[in-house]
Parts: sequence; structure tokens; C-alpha cells
Amino acid sequence: MLGAPEYTVFTPTGGVLRSFVPHPRPQPEKRSLQKVPFVELFDGRLQGVVSSGSSATRVYVSLIEAGTGNYYCSTNNNRPCGGLGGGGCKHIGEMVKNAIAQYGQERVSRYLGLPEPQATAWGIIGQLGGGKNKVEAGEVFARFLDYLRYVELPASTQPRPEMAWFVTG
Ligand SMILES: [Zn+2]
Repeated sequence: MLGAPEYTVFTPTGGVLRSFVPHPRPQPEKRSLQKVPFVELFDGRLQGVVSSGSSATRVYVSLIEAGTGNYYCSTNNNRPCGGLGGGGCKHIGEMVKNAIAQYGQERVSRYLGLPEPQATAWGIIGQLGGGKNKVEAGEVFARFLDYLRYVELPASTQPRPEMAWFVTG
């Protein structure tokens, strides 16, 4: 087929496909910075900071461990989340939803160790099937505060790779 463009497609499992059909990367949806000001894939965990629905001064630290799917949610003062039952809580759901919006479902699913990418937050959480496992919120919250420091730095024309999570607009 002369003149037909050929596209290289990298599959999530590391394979390479040749295709005559373009496979554009899905555009990430917009994140809600108000609900989830911080989310990252770091140190074998998906973790983030989620605003409380009821109090402006309270935030929750939610996380899911890759591989085991174990999860935890507590306030930044280490009070356990009251909504945390078997299968997670609404904060964990919001965090995963925003992680999908930022990184895409494939990257989040792959990072957490799922064999097949799941399209929705609860699909990912359900597929992982982990249990509650306490992690100190301070560990994650300190990283969030570090990132916030960048926001307060004077404006610079130099790009800051550490700020890549901060999607605006
Ligand atoms: Zn929670």
C-alpha cells in the first residue's frame, strides 16, 4: 500500500504493533484541583490529598498500594476516615478518578499492577481487591506540602518538572 501512513502502537504490555490506523493518545480529562489538589504515582503507591466535602479546613490523605491493592484513608492529622469500609471510601474514589484524569486509565492501571486497564475509578479499585492497611498520613502529606512550596516561589521563566502534576486551565 504505497503512501499509506504506518503508525507504531506501543501496547501496555510492552509490545509493539504496526497499524495503518492512527491510535491517538486519549486526552486526559480535566482534573478537579479543588477536590483533589494533589495526586501522584510514587514509591509503589497511588496517593493523594482529597478535600473534605464538609469542612474547608480538613483534608484526607488517600492511598492505594500497587500490587496488593491495599488502601488507606485518614485526615492529615491521622484520624481514620469514617467512611472507610471494605472496598475503600469516597475519597479514594475521587483520588483514583483524578489520577485517571491526569495520567490516563492505562498508566494508572498498569502502575497499580492490573493485567487489563480499567476505565473507571471503581473498576480499578474493585479489580485490585485489596484490604485496609494503615499508612501514616504524614508521609504523604509532607510531600504535598513540599509541592505547595513551589506554588509560593516567585514566578520564573524556567520550567519546573516537579510542577507537572499541577494542571490548570
Ligand atoms: Zn476517606
